[in-house]
Amino acid sequence: MTVLLELDGVRAAYGPVQALFSIDLALAEGEVLALLGRNGMGKTTTVRTIMRMLPLAGGRVSFAGQDISRLPSHRAAQLGLGLVPEGRRCFAPLTVSENLSVAARPGEWTLPRVLELFPRLGERMGQPARTLSGGEQQMLAIARALLTNPRALILDEATEGLAPVVRAEIWAAIRALKGKGISILVIDKSLKDLRTVADRAAIVERGRTVWHGAMADMGEDAVARHLGV
Ligand code: ATP
Repeated sequence: MTVLLELDGVRAAYGPVQALFSIDLALAEGEVLALLGRNGMGKTTTVRTIMRMLPLAGGRVSFAGQDISRLPSHRAAQLGLGLVPEGRRCFAPLTVSENLSVAARPGEWTLPRVLELFPRLGERMGQPARTLSGGEQQMLAIARALLTNPRALILDEATEGLAPVVRAEIWAAIRALKGKGISILVIDKSLKDLRTVADRAAIVERGRTVWHGAMADMGEDAVARHLGV
């Protein structure tokens, strides 16, 4: 098992307010890792530190064997970290086609392959992104991240606010991506769906990873203790 992305004792703050106290996690090559935790526990903040959008106050982030703790954000993306951010940020006035072409970088993921995964986008290439449904915008956000040909894909609440049938389509796409061997870090509220795709999980509580292990080993006790409402 080759570790692709590793966080070791990561700390981070928003100005004077510390949000992360000690985050440890490891994403192996070809694996799906679920990052779990109740609202406001630090999942998105963890993603921001990985993507270098937030400076580290301590600890270490490494990617593909390289210490990236102090790397500027654009370099993190160049190294092969692909983010589908919370709230699916597409360029609203640009067309689907334009949104996709600004992202593209040479590699295995080409426009035809991405449209094979999301045929609906192919039917809407000339349409401004703002006229897409929520689910289609999410597909566009994933397609865009794939076209950067990342070595690891980070999905932050990719199914949030979507109708159940559209959510199922996004999960099917995530499973297809896993089948193609992409390493994925996924944040989502649906434990049920995560159990169908994640190999391992890490649970964050008040800025600390409090549980880390195989998804199959995450029993009802851990769920009730760390994720229960
Ligand atoms: P959610 O599921 O609600 O998105 P989360 O686990 O992703 O939750 P974060 O968004 O990482 O949680 O928030 C962790 C902590 O950092 C919270 O206490 C939150 O209030 C704080 N926080 C998040 N973003 C900012 C910000 N831009 N400025 C100040 N504090 C922030």
